[in-house]
Amino acid sequence: MALLEEYSAGVEIIQTINKGRGLIAGKRMETGQLILRQHPYAYVIMATHAQTVCHYCLACPGQPDRPLVKQLLKCGGCKFARYCNKECQKKAWTDHRPECAAIKRVFPGQPVDQTRMVGRILWKRDQNLAKEEEVKIEDLVDHLSKRTKEERGDLDEKVYSFGDYFTYDAMPESDDEMLHLFAIIDCNAVGLNDHKGLQSIGVGIYPMMSLLNHDCNPNCVATNNGVNLELRALRPIEKDEELCISYVDSMETREDRREKLSSQYYFDCECNLCFNGGESEDLKHATAAENMKEESVKYINQFSKDMLKRINKTKERQNWERMSNQVLGTLAQQDCVIADTNVLKLSILNLAVEVQSFLRRQDSALQYAERVAAAYEKLLPKIHPTLGMYLMRVGILQWQLQKNEIAHQTLGKAASIISKTFGEDHSLFKELLGLIHQCRMESHMSKNSQREMRMAKKRAGLRLPEAF
Ligand SMILES: [Zn+2]
Ligand SMILES: [Zn+2]
Ligand SMILES: [Zn+2]
Repeated sequence: MALLEEYSAGVEIIQTINKGRGLIAGKRMETGQLILRQHPYAYVIMATHAQTVCHYCLACPGQPDRPLVKQLLKCGGCKFARYCNKECQKKAWTDHRPECAAIKRVFPGQPVDQTRMVGRILWKRDQNLAKEEEVKIEDLVDHLSKRTKEERGDLDEKVYSFGDYFTYDAMPESDDEMLHLFAIIDCNAVGLNDHKGLQSIGVGIYPMMSLLNHDCNPNCVATNNGVNLELRALRPIEKDEELCISYVDSMETREDRREKLSSQYYFDCECNLCFNGGESEDLKHATAAENMKEESVKYINQFSKDMLKRINKTKERQNWERMSNQVLGTLAQQDCVIADTNVLKLSILNLAVEVQSFLRRQDSALQYAERVAAAYEKLLPKIHPTLGMYLMRVGILQWQLQKNEIAHQTLGKAASIISKTFGEDHSLFKELLGLIHQCRMESHMSKNSQREMRMAKKRAGLRLPEAF
């Protein structure tokens, strides 16, 4: 897989009044338009996924659009890095060579992800010494002065042990510089998701993208395709408008978002949604009907919070039948008082989908999934990656239950959103096209022939899509 070229549709760097540097649109942008694509300055696969994905291109065995990747090759040197094939290993070698030696140096210890990341940044800096960079890695914000004592202690510890990994001779002499590099990662590293867009498997640092400021109702979204990070417009953007992404989950309430932004990104959000609210904000606390008694709402809110804790404990114990009873019992009580878009109810609805799927009660799982999708449609903008991915899951469930006509519609809707948020080059979109094709073919067959064809496919070892 060739790593795609970097791309920019004409963004400009500005100095904002109170948010440091930022990016603005150099021209009008349309919904779904690719605005910026960047290779990472440095990236690492998280230790938790080190054995399951390629450290160069992030592919994993079994990925539908990479049928040739069967088993990953292990690096003979460090026995830590893994690759799809010799080609990926060769391309990774320039970045991996010094790292390979460093990993061997600390063996049997294992460097933490941040240590590997700082190592990669320093080695990269050596290679790039002569290069003019538009945004210098050293100039990214570190918010060091705002850290708590514990956070500072944690950073200090990483700096002290860094020489064991990197060698003390090669390491920058100033502790401040090292501290700055470790702190930069905390504030600027972007999580890299797997080909399904679901699980975070690595982290990368993208200096230009790091300049994007936050807004709780952003006009852009950044998603990764392999190691590249791509920025797309979620709605039409005028020339000179500031480009913003959301650093936190848009589904969260104002209080939760602001708490996270303050504790993880060290600022108080002053966006329009935080200050003036909006329909989606009200929906997150909505009741089932108007004029609901205040005591009933208060009671059900507390009850929901308590039940969430209990259900999660049952989930940890993997007692699925009990979990199902608790979830459905809670929902029955919530139904009379709070609306499906209410965040407390949405959490329970999501757990209902999960547990019913686990118990293979697909019909019931689908019912709850459709309610979650309907709530997401009200809470999120029309074009949003979370909505696209969720509709895809619902479409797959409908398809599994042989509701082909409706599945075809849902998947089509998902495809339209996913093409605008992940791009038509993304594995997610390609998988979706395959599914839509299959759905269309099957809708002309009788139920019996559909079943026979699926069985034949399974026997032939062809993968059927899985939901959730
Ligand atoms: Zn690879
Ligand atoms: Zn190695
Ligand atoms: Zn805000």
